[in-house]
Amino acid sequence: MEDWFDRASVGVLQSPINRRERIEGRVGMPRERAVTALTIPNITGDIMTPKNPFLSVDQKIVGDVFTSSEVMNNLIILCDEFGSRFGGTEGERQAAEFIEAKLEEYGLKNVHREMVEYVGWTRGEAKLEIISPIEKTIPCISLPHSPPTNLEGAIIDMGDGAPADFDRQAEEIKGKILMTTSAVNPKGEQRWIHRGEKYGRSVLAGARGFIFVNHYPAYGPATGGVGHGGEGLIPGISVGREDGAFIQRLIKRAGEVRIRLTTTDRCQPMTSWNIIGDLPGELNPGEVVMLGCHYDGHDISQGAEDPASGAVAVMEAARVLAKYAPELPYTVRFALWGIEEIGLLGSKAYVEAHADELSEIRFYLNMDSAGAKGNKRDIVLNEWPELEPIFERWRDEMGLEFAVGQSVHAHSDHFPFFMAGVPTGGLQSAERSMEGRGYGHTRYDTVDKVDLASLREAAALAARVALRVASAENWPAVQREGEEVLELLDSPEYREERAFRNRLDAFYERARQGQ
Ligand SMILES: [Zn+2]
Repeated sequence: MEDWFDRASVGVLQSPINRRERIEGRVGMPRERAVTALTIPNITGDIMTPKNPFLSVDQKIVGDVFTSSEVMNNLIILCDEFGSRFGGTEGERQAAEFIEAKLEEYGLKNVHREMVEYVGWTRGEAKLEIISPIEKTIPCISLPHSPPTNLEGAIIDMGDGAPADFDRQAEEIKGKILMTTSAVNPKGEQRWIHRGEKYGRSVLAGARGFIFVNHYPAYGPATGGVGHGGEGLIPGISVGREDGAFIQRLIKRAGEVRIRLTTTDRCQPMTSWNIIGDLPGELNPGEVVMLGCHYDGHDISQGAEDPASGAVAVMEAARVLAKYAPELPYTVRFALWGIEEIGLLGSKAYVEAHADELSEIRFYLNMDSAGAKGNKRDIVLNEWPELEPIFERWRDEMGLEFAVGQSVHAHSDHFPFFMAGVPTGGLQSAERSMEGRGYGHTRYDTVDKVDLASLREAAALAARVALRVASAENWPAVQREGEEVLELLDSPEYREERAFRNRLDAFYERARQGQ
């Protein structure tokens, strides 16, 4: 590893003109430098910062990003011109074309769109009518991949939807329309209990419908996919907190509340696109570091923070790396994923289509929502302890203060790579807030929430990380075999969610075979 650090410290980037000289130069570098770089504070109280072998190019990257408004301009175009960019919309297609044109303009090579065929979803009218003990219509929206329905039944209020309660109350849930909030830590759960898990546990328990109540006041209903890579098995709708609270009070007073649910959404085959572009490596183009973020938002929203603040940071990193570090030893690949919001469908398709090239990926850095103001610009490694000291050293040499965390969740585009054994991580807060999404996944995730400084921080950090991964002579992370991935997910932190997913996968498989 020392060897790796030292060799990376060559002036790989100082003179983009003479490639051979740089590559030869790399071999002859003295090693002591890297070692002395990590020095303990001296007695006068000064802190010795590790020497930064990439200082010159770092200065160019940071200087350019922090004096250009390109990243915000791109955000405004993605959100204000193309709208939600939700799968199947005209704005999605326009966004894909725009991103492709931008990556070309920035000078990336092999820029192309990869088509993804999938089961898409189109929103229809949704109606929630209380039919007993009173008659009242409650405003609601369908959740993506909800099937059309015309259903009557009694509501069961499961509060915040703690996993254990679904098992405990399985008998009562059967045949009911289950109502639960969007709170992510029911009963003080340490694990983020995702909407998909609450819906999935409702399906497993035999509920006939699902009502998702926003736990934030004044944001209206929150959306989010409920399918399983396609149409969900029971209808799912969403209501605002105030309407959910009304129904809860009515249940308390009346004992039973019956409703009629009418939805008219449609699932049908659709096409989306991943947009890919490269800075090909000079030494070995086959070895790759990837930066990626999805560009689709939810149809009710501009999706400005989630995901666009991350998507434009990936694009900005592409712009400055192409400009100041176009000839790194290894390839930097930029990926803008389609249709993440309804099941990570774009990145899953990429991982399947490129299965035989995955062993060449050194690292995939996920940038979902990376430029959101409320997020920190930390690095979270998806359980890769061997990479932790490297990222910490890079942080110090870069003169930054981010945290390096270790954890993994299943709800963004790193996950298909993670499952395939690829070393992955995310540019996100190391301490995951257990608050929830706030205005995320509502119609209020708009451009005005995003600030330029956060976009710039995300873009500059991503570029500087990619620069380092793509320059490292040796890369210490060894990809995991399938067995090792499953073993990791069988550890106490991940076991409960994994077991649930396995049950749900099996349930869907049986249900879809029977269809
Ligand atoms: Zn996202």
